[in-house]
Amino acid sequence: MKLCELAPECIRAIHPYQPGKPISELVRELGLEKYGVIKLASNENPLGTSPLAIEAMTNALQEIARYPDGSGFELKNALSKHYGVNVDQIVLGNGSNDVLELAARIFLKPGASAVYSQHAFAIYPLLAQALGAHGIAVPARLYGHDLVAMLNAITPETRIVFIANPNNPTGTLCDADDLLRFLERISPDVLVILDEAYDEYLPEANKANSISWLRKFSNLLITRTFSKAYGLAGIRVGFALAHPDLADLMNRIRQPFNVNSIGLVGALAALQDTEFVKRSYTLNRAGMLQITNGLRQLGVEYIPSYGNFISFRVRGDATNTIKTYQSLLEQGVIVRPLGVYDMPHHLRVTIGLESENEKFLHALEQVLKTSL
Ligand SMILES: *Cc1c(COP(=O)(O)O)cnc(C)c1O
Repeated sequence: MKLCELAPECIRAIHPYQPGKPISELVRELGLEKYGVIKLASNENPLGTSPLAIEAMTNALQEIARYPDGSGFELKNALSKHYGVNVDQIVLGNGSNDVLELAARIFLKPGASAVYSQHAFAIYPLLAQALGAHGIAVPARLYGHDLVAMLNAITPETRIVFIANPNNPTGTLCDADDLLRFLERISPDVLVILDEAYDEYLPEANKANSISWLRKFSNLLITRTFSKAYGLAGIRVGFALAHPDLADLMNRIRQPFNVNSIGLVGALAALQDTEFVKRSYTLNRAGMLQITNGLRQLGVEYIPSYGNFISFRVRGDATNTIKTYQSLLEQGVIVRPLGVYDMPHHLRVTIGLESENEKFLHALEQVLKTSL
């Protein structure tokens, strides 16, 4: 259509984000029995959702004829207490994707650039491209962020540096001291977005004290989400913590009701259910051990991960990786191919319940048996 040809080239060239395949789609495509299918493709919480959050959300259904509280008063107050920041430092979003986009929309435009690591979360290059900015992908080191190289890649046009910690899909973690040094050396005119979507899955010893850094670095923005350990991916709530001036800018351009009313109460209840988060953490640790042991026994190489997922390498060429992905699908196991992450030889599996992990390992064993 002629009209669409008038859209900016940067938009027309976008390859849309490829989400993990939904169970319903696989059931439709392969005619599999729904209950035989497991999805380990989107880093969702295998325990589901906090029962307290479910109860709060169910009750809130009675009120959905009303608009949500556009200021997110209660949730922001709870977050403020939980994280020891002021309410004016918080920006709520429709998932943390939303807050990442708000920050990008403020600073990225044609002529500007964003720096991120090779193999980093796919949303960063997508945001840069959608806004007509230049994306600079810095070669990774052992699949992780090379912070020194990233610092050196910054140009006078660079407005944002994205750091995912831990990173998805590699599961790699930057050392907290290295991050601090990075912040000390970077120009205060460049925004550093520290995406900590998997922070709740980190052992205490590995957590950076990043929120305390906000007092010192006005160019730091931290994003967190309720989609992972809190088990609320479907209801879309995330948030950013930043300097009040930056938070104010972001709040000015967000949609007035960007977080829905069910999400607001669900997140509030989930935040208070510390027992559920603890259980999710413990299950993930055990599952990670189960899967890494299993992969080792199968002779499959993997990238040690700090998240609730792990990426492993399939022998042979990239076609073989896709074949393996397909064979797993046929056995009712959905994982994630990583071609778009510049990792055509890897697949990523989310840590599931013990039985799901076992099913995955068994299915992978079958594939390896038949393909060798
Ligand atoms: C899953 C994920 C997010 C969270 O996205 P939401 O929009 O909050 O669901 C953010 N960053 C990374 C690196 C992720 O893997």
